[in-house]
Amino acid sequence: MKPLAIFGGTFDPVHLGHLSVAWEAAELLDAEVRLLPASVPPHRPPPAASATQRVAMLRAALHGQSRLTLDTRELERNGPSYTIDTLHELRAEQGDRPLVLLIGADAFAGLPSWHRWRELFTVAHIGVLSRPDVGAVLSEDLQHETAGRWVGEVSTLRKLPAGRLIELAVTPLVISATRIRELLAAGRDPRYLLPAGLFDDTELLAPYRR
Ligand code: ATP
Repeated sequence: MKPLAIFGGTFDPVHLGHLSVAWEAAELLDAEVRLLPASVPPHRPPPAASATQRVAMLRAALHGQSRLTLDTRELERNGPSYTIDTLHELRAEQGDRPLVLLIGADAFAGLPSWHRWRELFTVAHIGVLSRPDVGAVLSEDLQHETAGRWVGEVSTLRKLPAGRLIELAVTPLVISATRIRELLAAGRDPRYLLPAGLFDDTELLAPYRR
């Protein structure tokens, strides 16, 4: 059975960095990859675009391909969306299928601030995606928890439902939603940093324009 990989984020807005690394991870793992927009991200200021607007952008971005899909379950839940709860839900639905939580190297370094983070390994593997300009130092807590979990081969990970860590060397792209919001707010047109579908409807990027 193909692993199921999930890639969560605020996607405020979804950009080519997200799509490109998710796509490459799908290829490297030979997995189904679902993008999961978060409703009220527990560790950050509220998104500039509403949940409905972020979903509309994701739908436009994913149009025309079927390797990356959209899962809006976190937006349908009340209150903050904790990854651990989502993973337990997916585990209940998927039986012993390998689950892989995909996270950028920056987010991985911040893992110890996540709700019940140690429990994540009991439900899923983690795939760490290269992200340039991160230079994050892994805390002792994180190093301690992850020592012995790293594997070098995708095949090892595919044999188990959860508990391993793998570095996924995807093409590094220095693109962030923060930078895109800044460009749009300044009246610029970041055409080739965003999926083309986001320019088909002028309303989609309106939340970021001043
Ligand atoms: P912001 O600039 O608003 O913080 P972001 O660009 O980091 O946004 P998020 O939606 O916060 O995007 O990120 C969701 C996930 O995507 C995180 O795991 C993050 O590390 C990862 N990610 C985002 N952009 C990239 C990129 N260019 N390369 C690799 N991973 C990325």
